[in-house]
Order: sequence, then structure tokens, then C-alpha cells
Amino acid sequence: MTRTGSCLCGAIRYETDQEMGPVTGCHCTQCRKWTGHHVAALPVPWDALRLTGALTWYAASPGARRGFCGTCGSSLIWEEGDGLAYLMAGTLDAPTGLAMDGHVFCADAGDYYRLGDGLPRWVAGRSGPEMEA
Ligand SMILES: [Zn+2]
Ligand SMILES: [Zn+2]
Repeated sequence: MTRTGSCLCGAIRYETDQEMGPVTGCHCTQCRKWTGHHVAALPVPWDALRLTGALTWYAASPGARRGFCGTCGSSLIWEEGDGLAYLMAGTLDAPTGLAMDGHVFCADAGDYYRLGDGLPRWVAGRSGPEMEA
């Protein structure tokens, strides 16, 4: 299926025919500051993504950068130069047919919310330990 998405004002639009995997919640401080809450994202190869409009980029840490709309401020894409664009799932048009399958960097989650969806909650990345109950 072709999935489409956009920023809030519509200046930036994208579409992809790529089969996409599950959505990951990221609760790291950078993602929370960048979006105003935690991130829900999923990777798609850059070469499978058709993007119109110009992203504005901000590099919060070496080797990675965050693309957003300079007009409306929507957070759209995180990347670290490995050929993958991590789309912010909230910018996809409905229905996505996708589902979240876990949460990363839960040790850095905000103290104002609780995750009660029963999905795996990793302390940091998926390859490390999970949070204690
Ligand atoms: Zn916009
Ligand atoms: Zn993050």
C-alpha cells in the first residue's frame, strides 16, 4: 500500500510504497523536547521515500539530525546517516495499518505519564535490558 503523510501546514508531504514495520516509542529527553511528548517513529529507506517541500534540520547530537517543517514546526524525520529516515508516525495520514510494538529509552521518560499498554519497555535501546515492573 502507499502511505502518505505531511506536516501540520502541508508544506512538506511524503509518500512511500515501502512495507513498514512496527512503530517504536522513544522516550529519550531529546525526542521529548523535540516533539513536546514522546516520539512514535518507524524507519523507511530514504530511497523509498518521495518527499516534497524542504525540511529544516537540527542536529541535537553528533551523527544524527532531526528534520522539521520551518513553517509550522512539525517534527517529521530523525536520521543518523545510515540510509534510513525515521518517520514520526503522527505525521502519517490515516489509516496507517501500523501498530506500536515497544518503547525505548524508558529510563528517560517524563514523570508525568505512565505506559500501560503492556508492550516491552527497554531501559535504553532494544538490545539492552527491559525496565523493572
Ligand atoms: Zn508545515
Ligand atoms: Zn529518542
